[in-house]
Amino acid sequence: MNQLARRVGVGALVLGLAASILTVPALRAQAPGDLQAAVDAAYAKYKGLQEGKNADYIPALAKVDPNLFGIAVVTADGKVYAAGDVKTEVSIQSISKVFTMAQVIQEQGLESVEKRIGVDATGMRFNSITAVEGVRTVAGAGAPEMNPLVNPGAISATSMVKGATADEVWTKIIGFHNDAAGRSLSVLQDVYKSESDTNQRNQAIGALMLAYGYIKDNWQQAVDLYTRQCSIGVNARDLATMAATLAFAGKNPVTGTQVMDAVKVPGVLAVMATAGLYDDSGKWLYHTGLPAKSGVGGGIIAVSPGKFGIAVISPPLDDAGNSVRAQKAIADISEALGGNPYAAKAR
Ligand code: GLN
Repeated sequence: MNQLARRVGVGALVLGLAASILTVPALRAQAPGDLQAAVDAAYAKYKGLQEGKNADYIPALAKVDPNLFGIAVVTADGKVYAAGDVKTEVSIQSISKVFTMAQVIQEQGLESVEKRIGVDATGMRFNSITAVEGVRTVAGAGAPEMNPLVNPGAISATSMVKGATADEVWTKIIGFHNDAAGRSLSVLQDVYKSESDTNQRNQAIGALMLAYGYIKDNWQQAVDLYTRQCSIGVNARDLATMAATLAFAGKNPVTGTQVMDAVKVPGVLAVMATAGLYDDSGKWLYHTGLPAKSGVGGGIIAVSPGKFGIAVISPPLDDAGNSVRAQKAIADISEALGGNPYAAKAR
């Protein structure tokens, strides 16, 4: 082989190698066309699925159209890949717990939430009183397993947001949600009223949290603000943008706003991984590896750190309280995109 032929040969080899690196499946699957195809495929596959039932313990939720189904994925460049209805709003419900927790962590540090509330799974329903009561002495001493994604911890987290008046606290809570969503959100008044009329159990939890020192004063204000935050109206696109803010180190990739410090985001994701899907959190993590959070309004957000934020809205829930279609659609799409953060590529 002469000099030139050898050079051409080496060049071809380098080009070939480069081409094969560029076409490994995980990277190919994240090309825009393939990403949209994965979203469309999940939408088509689960659109007709008739499983689960709307939550009805909050009367307004029973009235939401069970056929509502929207999927959105937001990537690092702020592009949104969507299918179905990504405009209709539902109440954010428990997904708000993530962002109020994030706000407290942003304002008061990672230790604040760990020390005052805890970051362990309860293994019980999100509104379980047994979970906080069972391990206590008559005098109320004892350390319950609790975290900011179950109601006792979430109501306590809401009470930790600093502000001289309820309005001041609310402005901060909705402001953080707005920044993560990239637009100005508002409360769905019918849901707020419906839940306020029927939330005696959460009021009992709020009073208990005061009795045990997790809430320092005015538990009624904490429960009211918590109920309001749960009634914030969001569509699938809003939720996906909020998830993407967590996927990209606290920076909203659509607006470019740094919503929280990058170093604080992994703590938020860890609590989501531990307790985001109620008592099915372990099962969910086992299958997808994704930190996620569901709400009884039918939304689920999930985060593939550094890759994408995804959200699906579909109101019918399974027995654990998680949207049936949302779980399936997110699992499929993440699988197609290589979203599981625990799955390193074999070398
Ligand atoms: N606002 C609802 C409640 O406190 C939120 C529950 C949820 O989404 N899991 O009951």
